[in-house]
Amino acid sequence: MARVLIIEDEERISSFIAKGLKADGYTTTTVADGIAGLDYSLSGDFDLVILDINLPGLNGYEVLEQMRASGSGLPVIVLTARDSVTDTVTALEGGADDYMPKPFRFAELLARVRLRLRQTSDQVSAREDLLEVGSVRLDRRTREATSGGRGVELSAREFKLAEIFMLNAGLVLSREQLLSHVWGYDFDPGSNVVDVYVGYLRKKFGPGTIATVRGVGYRFDTGR
Ligand code: CA
Repeated sequence: MARVLIIEDEERISSFIAKGLKADGYTTTTVADGIAGLDYSLSGDFDLVILDINLPGLNGYEVLEQMRASGSGLPVIVLTARDSVTDTVTALEGGADDYMPKPFRFAELLARVRLRLRQTSDQVSAREDLLEVGSVRLDRRTREATSGGRGVELSAREFKLAEIFMLNAGLVLSREQLLSHVWGYDFDPGSNVVDVYVGYLRKKFGPGTIATVRGVGYRFDTGR
């Protein structure tokens, strides 16, 4: 059972997040200031942190900075203001793994939480070497891909994109999520590179494999 630490001083938001995560089977702890938040985050009792920026005591950037300076590699999702590009960039440069612009729908946050926890368990435990979704198979050791039993050549970037999609099959991933996971932080948010690469994968795996969810992003279909 994954344990999530929520550092957020607005009760309305923290209880909204806690309620949703609990309903999805997570254990949550909420703290409302940065000093306690930093303490808790370093306790070793948590698998992931959801961190607000404007907090009493220490702000979110300071919490993040001190966590990383203490050697904590805990995945951190920062809650940013939707209209603040500076917030987002500062958070990512400060070592956040992902960000969630406020206001958000719970499903969007949940997708990020799942993605981050899955990536951590990948790094910590034995990797799942063979990914298989519908008719597509990826062998992560040999870097070989097949679709319907037929070999498919993928570039390193295409392979990484396919990997993220298949680890999150059935979930909608936003362009921003795909950009930050596959292309790193060095991206132009206005770029259409994700759409171009999704097009490449569709051509290689078949048009029905990746669905466009209008206004939200893309979903790798499970074929069920
Ligand atoms: Ca706040």
